[in-house]
Amino acid sequence: MSFNCRFAPSPTGPLHIGGVRTALFNWLLARKNKGKYFLRIEDTDKERSKDEFKKQIISSLSWLGIEHDGEEYIQSKNISKHVSIAEELIKKGFAYECYCSEEEIHEQKEKCKKQGIPYVYNRKWREAKDLEIPKGVKPVIRFKSKISGNTIIKDLVQGERNISNSTIEDFVILRKDKSPTYQLSATVDDHEMNITHVIRGDDHMINSFKQKQIYDAMGWNVPNFAHIPLIHSEQGKKLSKRDNASKIDDYIKIGIISDAFRNYLLRLGWAHKDKEIFTKQESIDLFDLNGVGKSPSKLDMSRIYSINETYIKTIDEKDLFNFFKEYVSKYKKPIDKSKEAVLLKSMSFLKNKAKTLEDIWNNAQYIINDKIEIDSADKKLINDLSKKIIQDFIKEYEKLETLSKETLEPVIKSLINKHKTNFKAVGQPLRIALVGSKFGPALYDIILSLDKPKVVNRLSIFK
Ligand code: GLU
Repeated sequence: MSFNCRFAPSPTGPLHIGGVRTALFNWLLARKNKGKYFLRIEDTDKERSKDEFKKQIISSLSWLGIEHDGEEYIQSKNISKHVSIAEELIKKGFAYECYCSEEEIHEQKEKCKKQGIPYVYNRKWREAKDLEIPKGVKPVIRFKSKISGNTIIKDLVQGERNISNSTIEDFVILRKDKSPTYQLSATVDDHEMNITHVIRGDDHMINSFKQKQIYDAMGWNVPNFAHIPLIHSEQGKKLSKRDNASKIDDYIKIGIISDAFRNYLLRLGWAHKDKEIFTKQESIDLFDLNGVGKSPSKLDMSRIYSINETYIKTIDEKDLFNFFKEYVSKYKKPIDKSKEAVLLKSMSFLKNKAKTLEDIWNNAQYIINDKIEIDSADKKLINDLSKKIIQDFIKEYEKLETLSKETLEPVIKSLINKHKTNFKAVGQPLRIALVGSKFGPALYDIILSLDKPKVVNRLSIFK
């Protein structure tokens, strides 16, 4: 039996964190079951769909390593098929033309509002034998929803869901301009693509009840549905597109590593015992819909930083450097080729004080830039004693034939003894002169990551 999943974003805005998680769950389920995972761009809303969003969606998913099978499926290319199914539904008696004018619909909506009840189209044209077709009004096509009885969906996450059919209105499947609506296009495409599992946000639950009626009317197999709870903001509110950290780009920009982000998304609403960190392969092997919770999950920025920090500290340093290079080339200034080797070597300590790739970028500025700027407040910390210490250090440092922590340590110790002071009084001025700030990597790491002339040069400012 085939096993096909899909992610079907509308390119009407940048990819949202909820969308990415939906994509991830579909992808994991397909990969786990050796099935296919497709990407369908639902671009039938011509006015709101933008090419830039389509590109952004595709590149964000590929950044995360969620690769789809085959080409992207572009929904607008299949519009004529959607229209032909609408015509077939009319022929079969499952759909009809509705000639209500916009004013009439507006009136109905106002009436419901006054009565405080939700608007449901009054089915005026459903049995329209005695009605005269008004001139100059183009019809929409509505699906003839069941009026009595109940519909049950056995949702793979929510369990059995049962609703009264009377609550589903005769929804529009073709607009006045003959363009298909989401309900029709998505159903026809899911059928044509042989989708067996539809995983999407639980705000789509009602759509599944509508779409099930189309499947039944056409005599098609109904796919399995799984509606996953939404993601809420840190304050516990529904996540809005205006929230920071709702868009995937917000995370890429601050230097979150794709593997860490994927791991974080996986744990957002899904659990496997109390395991926190999953490799890509582990997540494929262990993922199942039983592990998806039924209540909304909350964004937790401190959690994402901590997972990212774990990745930064534990992944292979070459991989970390490649992530860093990719990040910098996108969001910062390009790094001079001549600095690459020393930066790669320095990953071993730059990673220690970093939660994000941006932290690594900030901490590596003294390597990346030939000239450094010294923080004005820190500059004031360099007093006469500091200057003496710096001069003494230069003398001893220049004498060293091999440079290592072992050869540097005695130098620093001798300065502490000579000036009857402590490590901070020696280390801080050196760090300020070499890095530009009293914050930064450990002193020995700084000294060893710069070449000799550069160390002497930077220190000589304080003669
Ligand atoms: N284009 C719809 C959306 O972005 C897809 C919903 C679905 O998965 O069917 O919400």
